[in-house]
Amino acid sequence: MFSTRLDRERLADLGAAAAERLLRAGVDLVALSFVDNSGISRVKAVPAGKLASVAAWGVGASNSFDFFLATDSIASGAHSLGPVGDLRLHPDLDALTVLAAQPGWAWAPAWRYDQDGRAHPQDSRALTAAAVGQLAERGLSVRAAFELEWVVTDPDEVPVPGPAYGYARLSRHHDYLRKLVSALDSQRAEVEQIHPEYAAGQFELSVAAADPVRAADLAVLTKETVRRVSEACGLRASFTPKFQPGGVGNGGHVHLSLWHGDQPLCSAGNGPFQLTPAGEAFGAGILRRLPALLAVGAPSVISYLRLTPHHWAGVFTAWGCENRETQLRLIRGAAGQRSTAANWEVKCFDLTANPYLVLAGLIFAGLAGIDAEERLPPPIDVDPGSLSPDEAAAAGVVRLPTSLPDSIAAFEADDVLPKAFGEELGTTLLDVRRAEAAELGALPDAELCRVMRWLH
Ligand code: GLU
Ligand code: MG
Repeated sequence: MFSTRLDRERLADLGAAAAERLLRAGVDLVALSFVDNSGISRVKAVPAGKLASVAAWGVGASNSFDFFLATDSIASGAHSLGPVGDLRLHPDLDALTVLAAQPGWAWAPAWRYDQDGRAHPQDSRALTAAAVGQLAERGLSVRAAFELEWVVTDPDEVPVPGPAYGYARLSRHHDYLRKLVSALDSQRAEVEQIHPEYAAGQFELSVAAADPVRAADLAVLTKETVRRVSEACGLRASFTPKFQPGGVGNGGHVHLSLWHGDQPLCSAGNGPFQLTPAGEAFGAGILRRLPALLAVGAPSVISYLRLTPHHWAGVFTAWGCENRETQLRLIRGAAGQRSTAANWEVKCFDLTANPYLVLAGLIFAGLAGIDAEERLPPPIDVDPGSLSPDEAAAAGVVRLPTSLPDSIAAFEADDVLPKAFGEELGTTLLDVRRAEAAELGALPDAELCRVMRWLH
């Protein structure tokens, strides 16, 4: 549970109890991680026996991490202290997890505080918690899940063979997939589905929906588990949006359902496809802000190589029911299950994004839609990329930003997001994006793919 102030005594007690449990279970090291603005998980590790003191007092981490690019260059910016200053990483002990594929290790996502115990304004996990708090003020909650796609290669970086969605690719890697699901299962990440995807060597995995902070934690944990199990099986896993120029990319689709208590708001209403007014307004708020949200959910120069029409990546400002070419897809599920299955899927995001910022941004956008009682335009039930210019104009369908600088401009111009992210985080996010655009923007596609292939 996030709190703006640390209760050090209570945390020390909880840390001591956790240390005892871990040591009894043969765990002697704990990785504390957070995700930076460039979407990379950064980490410090501590001996399990030190958890009482670490929970209460944290572990040092430089302020400069907020300015890291995915390439490890460091951006400058209005809020940068350069090499000066220190933050403290505090493990969230509620999320402490013994790692199945990394024997002797546990993991906990960290909150970041300053040395006086004040929450760090650039803590993306705290931003998600704040967004959840704003939902709760209106009696609402969101359940969310990230869908992971990745390319598996042999050690020479050649994608593993087998046809798209092909049984042959699954049977050849049956042991790998089983080890992966078993590791996730023992880490309380409930796998819903796993399958070979369209692109060469590509697989996809989805986990059960959870509250937003937990859903983002699961995105981090699942990714690191895929990476570890792949390596243990003599394989490599790449989550890059585009493994090589051309072809289909790796998405990081996000699913969200809106609730009022146990009443589902994405179904059981009288709106289009049985949306309730709040469920519709939440989707409308997201739809309207997806060009700006692209700076959060498709945050890398390489993200825009993936965002091309007819690749199921959702590159038009349109929504549709079960339409895999719209950026916002309403999923209803099978008749009979719709009350709990219906959800919004955002298709245009990828796994170079910081999942905490993604969920915070989507919730802020959806809430703005609810507060303004926004309505959805008519749904699109064809591939929006196949509309003539006149048809697209009549339906209000336009292409999403096609480059990082364009989505940065959309974020800056947005009426809700910069304010909701706060001055420090909102500004630094764009400082990092601009620095990545400057460093990587002119690379030829093949070189960009090579540079980014193993970073996220
Ligand atoms: N690989 C596609 C993407 O880049 C998504 C395919 C699917 O709909 O699962 O987003
Ligand atoms: Mg997929």
